[in-house]
Amino acid sequence: MSYRDTWAVCTKCGKKFIFRVEEQRQLALEGKEIVPPALCPDCRPARPSARRPQRPQRRAESRLDLAALGPGPYEGVIKWYDDEKGYGFIIHPGGHEIFFHRTGIAPGESPDFPDGTPVTYCLEQTEKGPQAVDVERMVA
Ligand SMILES: [Zn+2]
Repeated sequence: MSYRDTWAVCTKCGKKFIFRVEEQRQLALEGKEIVPPALCPDCRPARPSARRPQRPQRRAESRLDLAALGPGPYEGVIKWYDDEKGYGFIIHPGGHEIFFHRTGIAPGESPDFPDGTPVTYCLEQTEKGPQAVDVERMVA
């Protein structure tokens, strides 16, 4: 089968562009129908290979991870809790620190959590990020 450069018209900007033999061959190679693309090269989204390699953004990623977490329940350990301040942090599996407020302590639990206390808790997504609620000492 032979191919020829043909003219095509962009459905977005209306510009004429060349539907090249190479592109036609590529479509044939991929077993696709050999039709000109709807968009001219200028209107086409950049190819994935043209994307710049992305640097890992640790902070953004970890925030993202936490925001994607479901309500739980989860198991973690108390990093610290200060009853005078009325809040503390739980170390979530994977090392993230989850804030919790005194009001997030499960009913009936005494607000006394030495560092390293294993706890179960649920997550609530708030404007400030995830927050642990229903914080309860794990029964050994
Ligand atoms: Zn166009």
